[in-house]
Amino acid sequence: MFHLLLTACLAAEPATCAERLLPAPSPLTREECETGAEARAASWLATHPDLAGRGTRCAATDSLPALTLSEVVPGVLVHEGTPALPDRANRGAIANLGVVIGTDAIAVIDAGSSRAEAEALFAAIRLHSPLPIRALIVTHMHPDHSFGADLFREAGAEVLGAPKLAAGIESRAAAWLQSYPPQVGTKALLGTRPIPPDRGVAEERIDLGGATLHLRAAATAHTDNDLTVLHAESGTLFTGDLVFNGLLPTLDGSLTGWLGWLGESRPEVRRIVAGHGPAPLPWPAGAAATRGYLDRLRTDIRAAIAAGQPMSEAIRQSHPQDAARWQGYDVSHPRNASAAYAELEWE
Ligand SMILES: [Zn+2]
Repeated sequence: MFHLLLTACLAAEPATCAERLLPAPSPLTREECETGAEARAASWLATHPDLAGRGTRCAATDSLPALTLSEVVPGVLVHEGTPALPDRANRGAIANLGVVIGTDAIAVIDAGSSRAEAEALFAAIRLHSPLPIRALIVTHMHPDHSFGADLFREAGAEVLGAPKLAAGIESRAAAWLQSYPPQVGTKALLGTRPIPPDRGVAEERIDLGGATLHLRAAATAHTDNDLTVLHAESGTLFTGDLVFNGLLPTLDGSLTGWLGWLGESRPEVRRIVAGHGPAPLPWPAGAAATRGYLDRLRTDIRAAIAAGQPMSEAIRQSHPQDAARWQGYDVSHPRNASAAYAELEWE
């Protein structure tokens, strides 16, 4: 199986270049890859006006950079991201990503933080299966989960997300494209372009042949566009960022809504793949740390509001006892406390 690679450089910074993979919807022989390569590259560059091309080549699947995928149960694969805040060392590749392979088609759960990460996930998938990638399911809007989506659309997948995902990405993308490059480096994001989903879904069933996925949008919790994916045959639930481990949860939706989601009974779920941290984990034990942190946050901020403390004082004094167990605590906890105060003062 061969893939077209294009060396692309930033038009404004011609020394900043990277090889980009232009995926074909179905596997190509070397001859098929080489036929029309220049035309395919030109057509792709036309949609990326910030880039200039410097030649193409065709490469075999096993020569491409590929993410590590581990099998959770037969046909369900997971890539574990680095449980840390995005930085230049991890290039933003911090989220867990999922792949479900049926007998007819493949679905991907979250696209990674950049086109480069999505390409490495695509290459890893192609080491396992040549089947068509029918769907990319984006669990929510945050860049570490959504920024690689474009690559999978080019590979032929329909991009699905919660009904409010498109509005979330549209309202935040411009700000993220300013704030994200200084965190992870410009080169890491070369060719990356946030896109809205092709379709919003509140509930949907996808049959991949011997593997059935149930998609369900949540009420506002981590964000207002969280979507979970259950692999029905094994009871494996991809929670997106409704569950964190290792990296401190970040509140960008509703604290009470999130605790409500975590408190629901789910007898069909045996294990979860959280958005961050080790995967898989048993349910509900694997969500206990997230629930414990958010519960204490609510208790502390409610107490501060009841005592008449201003927000600045409440943020300073809210101090969950397990701070040392979380990555990103110093950056994310003050933001969480501030968001919680703004939400809870109107209870
Ligand atoms: Zn998130």
